[in-house]
Amino acid sequence: MRISDLLRDKGSAVSTVSPTHSVTELLGVLSKYNIGASVVTDGDNVVGIVSERDIVRRLEERGAPLLGAAVGEIMTRNVVTCSPEDTVDSLAATMTERRIRHMPVVSGGQLVGIVSIGDVVKSRISQLETDREQLESYIAHG
Ligand code: AMP
Repeated sequence: MRISDLLRDKGSAVSTVSPTHSVTELLGVLSKYNIGASVVTDGDNVVGIVSERDIVRRLEERGAPLLGAAVGEIMTRNVVTCSPEDTVDSLAATMTERRIRHMPVVSGGQLVGIVSIGDVVKSRISQLETDREQLESYIAHG
């Protein structure tokens, strides 16, 4: 299965924040959309990614003043992205190796979606169920 198939089911909406947004504003976005990470954009450019892990780690270092800091101070700048043509299996391998749970999808320089580790697990379970049904049907009917 390809990332484009997964995005067809899940949709292409991506929550973004600007590097100048405050961490408090970022918390509002993560909470409102019930998500664990947001892509950081400056105009049309992807300039970073920031996840709940970045907030937790920096909160432990800096305490409450972190809430007023800018997203640009805590985001990860080297963003690993994937393309709609990549397979879900290859994405699962990359996420496991790099220990990241979110992957923005980029096509022709444009942000066209985001895939989380939860989306990958859901897709793989659904594929396994389809395989099992086909095997059962094959065994029952030949
Ligand atoms: P996560 O597992 O997605 O919560 O993120 C763990 C760490 O990896 C955080 O420091 C994130 O900023 C960073 N991270 C998450 N996704 C990506 C990505 N696609 N590319 C680069 N870094 C990422």
